[in-house]
Amino acid sequence: MISVRRYQKQYTLLVACLIALFANNSTSDDWPLHGRDYKDQRFSPLKQINENNVNQLGLAWSFEMKTHRGLQATPIMVNGVLYVTGTWGKVAALNAQSGEKLWEFDPEVPGKWGRYGCCDAVNRGVAYWEGSVYVASFDGRLFSLNAETGDVIWEVDTIDGTAPYTITGAPRIVKDKILIGNAGAEYGVRGYISAYQARTGKLEWRFFTVPGNPDKPFEHPEMAIAAKTWKGSKWWRMGGGGTVWDSMTYDEEFDLLYFGVGNGSPWPQAIRSPGGGDNLFLSSIVAVDPDSGAMSWFYQTTPGESLDFTATQNMILADLPIGGKLRKVLMQAPKNGFFYIIDRSTGKLISADNYVKATWATHIDPLSGRPVGQKVYGENLEIMSPSPAGGHNWQPMAYNPVTKLVYIPVRESSGVFALSQDWIKHGEIPIRENWWNIGVDWEKYTELTENSDPNHSSNDFGFLGAWDPLKSRYNWTYQHSNLVNGGVLTTAGNLVIQGGGDGILRAHQAETGDILWAHDLQIGMLAPPVSYKIDGKQYIAILAGWGGAAIASGNPGALEAGTSDNLGKLFVFHLGDKKNLPFKPKKAKTLSYPPEIYGTQANIKGGASIYMQYCSLCHGPRAVSSGVIPDLRMISESTHQRFLQIVLEGELEGLGMPNFSDLLNTRQVKSVHQYIIQRTREDMSVYNHSK
Ligand code: CA
Repeated sequence: MISVRRYQKQYTLLVACLIALFANNSTSDDWPLHGRDYKDQRFSPLKQINENNVNQLGLAWSFEMKTHRGLQATPIMVNGVLYVTGTWGKVAALNAQSGEKLWEFDPEVPGKWGRYGCCDAVNRGVAYWEGSVYVASFDGRLFSLNAETGDVIWEVDTIDGTAPYTITGAPRIVKDKILIGNAGAEYGVRGYISAYQARTGKLEWRFFTVPGNPDKPFEHPEMAIAAKTWKGSKWWRMGGGGTVWDSMTYDEEFDLLYFGVGNGSPWPQAIRSPGGGDNLFLSSIVAVDPDSGAMSWFYQTTPGESLDFTATQNMILADLPIGGKLRKVLMQAPKNGFFYIIDRSTGKLISADNYVKATWATHIDPLSGRPVGQKVYGENLEIMSPSPAGGHNWQPMAYNPVTKLVYIPVRESSGVFALSQDWIKHGEIPIRENWWNIGVDWEKYTELTENSDPNHSSNDFGFLGAWDPLKSRYNWTYQHSNLVNGGVLTTAGNLVIQGGGDGILRAHQAETGDILWAHDLQIGMLAPPVSYKIDGKQYIAILAGWGGAAIASGNPGALEAGTSDNLGKLFVFHLGDKKNLPFKPKKAKTLSYPPEIYGTQANIKGGASIYMQYCSLCHGPRAVSSGVIPDLRMISESTHQRFLQIVLEGELEGLGMPNFSDLLNTRQVKSVHQYIIQRTREDMSVYNHSK
């Protein structure tokens, strides 16, 4: 019995290795593509590091990424060189064995662009193809770099400069084309994906995901299909959303490119498309011919999306035995909480079962592929699960073809929703240029947040779950202390490896979830690990650096407010040769005595609301920072004195602190200042005297 099972395992592995080899023309020792191969399984066939010896894993080397902001990249390893990105689209090329720096590239993004990103100035990695390294900078430029020197071969601007687009995703290479999307749906942009000639940077095709100005002709035939599903006439002035900000997968068997489409802009369909409609291609998986961009099929996960439920989460291709035959499927666990298995040949739904609590719909009808009992929100606060951050976000899940399990970094969460008061009272929402325009009620949300303790109120939690896609259930789960945790790697060594938001990197036995090895890296992790082999030695590499959408909260160091320096690093491990990590002692946490309050209680209350709308996204709810962006309760006397100049004149723009003079006046900024002073005074007794 055991030997039969082992034989089956080895056979499956051999097949997986062969497929991988044919897939990317590189050795199975490399990590040449975002998900390692085009199936995007994030499965390494290497097994030198395995369940029997992983407890001997030790640090080989580490490399400082010179940023305190979030790190999210998948390192790419080709021909012994590791290419990693930090923030803003900066690239480092390192000797993958020794860590020796070969070159660095800085796209020199203006710091003021920091304001255009919903979720930190992050970057999820490069693409490699025939001696070139491709990276997209945060301000929307795409670069081809010489892989040996880092010199720029070509550079193109992928955005038109009229809307606050950003790019955080990794470009992907398909045949001789380089593909890139963008982000910015919270600000009011119109999403699209572009294909460029990899050698020259020439634009080959562009696919818009939502219709544009109805007075103008459709850019491509698919826009005629989409336009029929939008109502009213104003959506296009608010962008419509639908950004392709992360996932793309190429299917070699069907010669199709799949990409995931994001949420609507603004969020509530009641504002965006009064009267309903599916609002294609929001929250959809779209399959196109990679040569022409012509659509083959689409599948919409959340019709009429209103909850920030993107379908941009990573997609995994696999062959699964379903109904007595081997089906070629695509698997995705989008934000909306349902795990989708889709037939890649037709785009038809095979199954969709909830992998986390999902209250926005009762279930997905298997025949129509549509959600049933879909809830909408109006004037009153509605609590729905998952939250806008999703049951699963961009942190990639992984599929192990040997255990046949999908390892998902899951978040059990809920969010509060109500329509914007402006919309209810005036039937319009003010469009704030280059800022969030999501059309929900911040006032009510602020009240709720202000009345709760962000450190202890939440019922939300994160876990790593080993999901059986055929039985739609977890074989095992591991509950984290943190809501947000890193992406996942699984290997033929029967391992699942994931970095926690708590700063601990763990290796689990893939079938049981038992923790076989754990190492405290002292920096919260978001990025997924990768594995590669050089000169007969296997390595595990991971970027550690807290930030991203979790920039404002959730860092365990954060709750200690300012005690974690969050100086990002790339860590590389191998067997034996254990080295101590160069740990730094945690900073003492003290709040400096702030100036006197000079405003009234009404000023402070107004300041709290403005803070929530404009400041909390980065500096943290209730002025408690996660340690990524400065904690405003700890600013110096001179910063207090320069508060107005910093916020209204852009004194610190070079560091990424934007100028808000177009959105806020002196009176409003003073009230925010009053609120921060009040919050500092409230917390002084707690922080300066406890422990
Ligand atoms: Ca979004």
